[in-house]
Amino acid sequence: MTDLEIAQAAKLEPISKIASLIGLSDDDIEPYGKYKAKINPIDFNEAIPASHKLVLVTSINPTPAGEGKSTVLVGLGDALTQLNHKTIIAMREPSMGPVMGMKGGATGGGYSQVVPMEDINLHFTGDMHALTSANNTLAALIDNYLLHDNQLDIDPRRIIWKRVLDINDRALRQIVTGMGGVSQGVVRQTGFEITAASELMAILCLATDLSDLKRRISNIVIGYNTDKQPVTVGQLHFEDAITILLKEALKPNLVQTLGHTPTIIHGGPFANIAHGCNSVLATKTALNLADYTVTEAGFGADLGAEKFLDIKRPILGKTPDTVVVVATVRALKYNGGQPLEQLENENLVALENGFANLQRHLDNMNRYQIPVVVSINHFTSDTKAELDLLKSYCERQGIEAVVTDSWANGGSGTIALAHQVVTATQQPNKFTPLYNSEESLTDKLTTIVTDVYGGSEVTLSKKAQRQLQQFADFGWQGLPVCIAKTQYSFSDDPHLLGAPTDFTIHIREFIPKIGAGFIVALAGNILTMPGLPKKPAALNMHIDADGKVTGLF
Ligand code: ADP
Repeated sequence: MTDLEIAQAAKLEPISKIASLIGLSDDDIEPYGKYKAKINPIDFNEAIPASHKLVLVTSINPTPAGEGKSTVLVGLGDALTQLNHKTIIAMREPSMGPVMGMKGGATGGGYSQVVPMEDINLHFTGDMHALTSANNTLAALIDNYLLHDNQLDIDPRRIIWKRVLDINDRALRQIVTGMGGVSQGVVRQTGFEITAASELMAILCLATDLSDLKRRISNIVIGYNTDKQPVTVGQLHFEDAITILLKEALKPNLVQTLGHTPTIIHGGPFANIAHGCNSVLATKTALNLADYTVTEAGFGADLGAEKFLDIKRPILGKTPDTVVVVATVRALKYNGGQPLEQLENENLVALENGFANLQRHLDNMNRYQIPVVVSINHFTSDTKAELDLLKSYCERQGIEAVVTDSWANGGSGTIALAHQVVTATQQPNKFTPLYNSEESLTDKLTTIVTDVYGGSEVTLSKKAQRQLQQFADFGWQGLPVCIAKTQYSFSDDPHLLGAPTDFTIHIREFIPKIGAGFIVALAGNILTMPGLPKKPAALNMHIDADGKVTGLF
């Protein structure tokens, strides 16, 4: 059965029943149909109880199909529920880009899925649309301001606020707006980004409440004036209008897994071109209501987990008690040199070569001094010899590794991992941050590249060097750095697999996201508006006259 067929066959509980499992009454939620709801703002005065555990699921460098991080996350949530632990899963909302393009959905797979998966993967509760509309409203207001009086003397060539769309559309990467004559606007070159990479998405995910949302929106730097000084949304007085457009989107969304574990899906920044974590509000809500909160950070631990620990954690105010690193035989072979189209074939040599990738991710997590467990996500194509080799490697290295069958058997296939995770969360956690906020942006960047990626140095383009000097003048040195980089490699070259060393990370440009509270560093050729592949997933999708969808995944 396909993921979609399994999801369509599922018997769901009414959302009010799922809410009641975590102590939420009908007044605490706003149902969106029968199986989805928004959670109204909850006043959490008290600190998160120390006994409430946070588990972060991340992975090794993936293959283009993904390594089953969400699948294991959902399986783990259901396994903890089966073991009678009060558990909430907190994860990101899928984007239409990967759904229609290449990677697929983001609601897990097989018997470890969040439902209703069709809704969640398509329009869900409309948060993506609200973000897109709010972003483009701000763009329209800026262009209108330029045309009418431009009292702040904004330089049309120095506006950095772009329009966004929740789909991969390479034709819109570079555009010219305002053409057609004087009354059509001020002609300028700009472009589109995918909504998942937008600053508003990051702001939604990092805001702690409605006032903080407005404060952050007000702090957004939309560009520079003719004296090259930053201009903010607050100076333009647009912050209230944009906040109003996002007031419903700020409320976390409640759904359920196939095993009826309450799941909060909220916010969906990609981990390669954005900070890769679901919202602080969602995770905080889960941490307050459940004994175990299991959450994910996108792509490999070099991207998602680093950003979780260095960008989201300080705002969340809670460090993960355990990190689960998902590895697959397939991705290890891929990292060890096995071509993508041959990943189903046994190859012990490639597998062994790929261990270096897992090892570096584990070393990185150990560097933060958080207890780590490895989940080997079992595929039917894995051979016994391959699994034995992987298990013996982990044993030799003293790594706690558990083979999980979340995809084939849901929570029941993830019980051993759940036991291991519960034990790991009891271990002492001596979390050590990677850098201090007072360090310069260059130092932070260098630390991530040398200590996490394993590279030797960072080089900056002339433009990036100039920007860093300006940013120091503007007082932005204290912000964290969010590196936008390929997910396939520790380096900025997607073909450099495994655990490369002696490489240089090339930063071509910085994008200040002052409202979100970080500086994005664009590494290598990474683009903030992806393209669709030659044969997009959209081609496989069908709908019949009764509205039944097939071929979604
Ligand atoms: P990630 O979160 O790492 O991107 P997902 O959990 O979204 O990965 O899984 C990607 C795809 O792989 C999904 O279609 C899922 O059904 C499939 N998948 C995951 N684990 C397995 C497995 N063990 N066997 C077969 N397919 C799997």
